[in-house]
Amino acid sequence: MTAKNAIEIEGLRKTYAGGRQQVAKEALKGVDLTIPAGSIFGLLGPNGAGKSTLINILAGLVLKTSGRVTIWGFDQDINPRQSRAAIGVMPQELNLDPFFSPRGSLEVQAGLYGVPKSQRRTDDILRMIGLEDKADAYARTLSGGMRRRLLLGKALVHRPQILVLDEPTAGVDIELRQMLWENVRKLNADGMTIILTTHYLEEAEEMCDEIAIINHGSLIVRDSTKALLGRMDAKTLVIHSEGDMPDALAMPDGVTIDRRADGAVAFTYRRSETAPDAILDALRQAGVRLRDVASEEPDLEDVFLDLTRKRAEA
Ligand code: ADP
Ligand code: MG
Repeated sequence: MTAKNAIEIEGLRKTYAGGRQQVAKEALKGVDLTIPAGSIFGLLGPNGAGKSTLINILAGLVLKTSGRVTIWGFDQDINPRQSRAAIGVMPQELNLDPFFSPRGSLEVQAGLYGVPKSQRRTDDILRMIGLEDKADAYARTLSGGMRRRLLLGKALVHRPQILVLDEPTAGVDIELRQMLWENVRKLNADGMTIILTTHYLEEAEEMCDEIAIINHGSLIVRDSTKALLGRMDAKTLVIHSEGDMPDALAMPDGVTIDRRADGAVAFTYRRSETAPDAILDALRQAGVRLRDVASEEPDLEDVFLDLTRKRAEA
């Protein structure tokens, strides 16, 4: 099968009903999105953007208000069982039953998905997530990192074609992060489609083939990571000079100048268009003596600002 989509989403809307005295919250405002099979796909956005809502709708944990969701070719409304079987979700919340051991949790989860005893691979999963030693310990005695690993294991019991990880590395240590990414890469190499949410741009850059960014419940952009990074090439040089900086400065085209309250002057340029040296040369030509030079990388926030501004201008 060529160019199959793992996920197809059309016109997806979600409005959470307001509780007493609360207004209803429109968390997804008509999202269209396709996610190709076989990819590692990043869903990015700031807190409150609607990432978990989208993922929980895919997982069948949150009911959509309207729209169409197709998972591995199965329409969620027409074939709820098949569409659910195709996806495994590692949730953002550490929602484990404190009275089950890792082995017990995996067995119960397999039971929920109707995996016959003979086809369960509880020991393989325990090994993969590094919890063999803790297989029979109570969940409440597990560390935060171990719980997260167990949640990954639970998402895999029914051998889903698609694995979704919701902020898997928020607040976890480097070791666990590496272990997670190793596993994710291995699973993807074996053919599993991976969807992950994160608000760490670097992580998405490193892991994802394609990226979608959502903000305030709307899709802002969806592109290959490479193409997206090309758009994100704004960089800033922050310069303190000896004495005052001249009022008028001749700069290469496309460089914007921002005088900051602390006396520093920030020069923002595009890596693809301007070399930082050209800015420093222009300053020297203007007779400016540099006291301090620092550089600032754009973060996700800048990317959002950039993309939303371009949109407003278009
Ligand atoms: P993200 O995962 O990107 O941080 P969420 O999907 O969790 O965003 O939340 C999107 C918006 O919906 C937020 O404004 C959040 O407060 C709201 N929201 C999320 N879950 C609920 C809920 N169960 N009831 C009401 N509002 C919710
Ligand atoms: Mg979330």
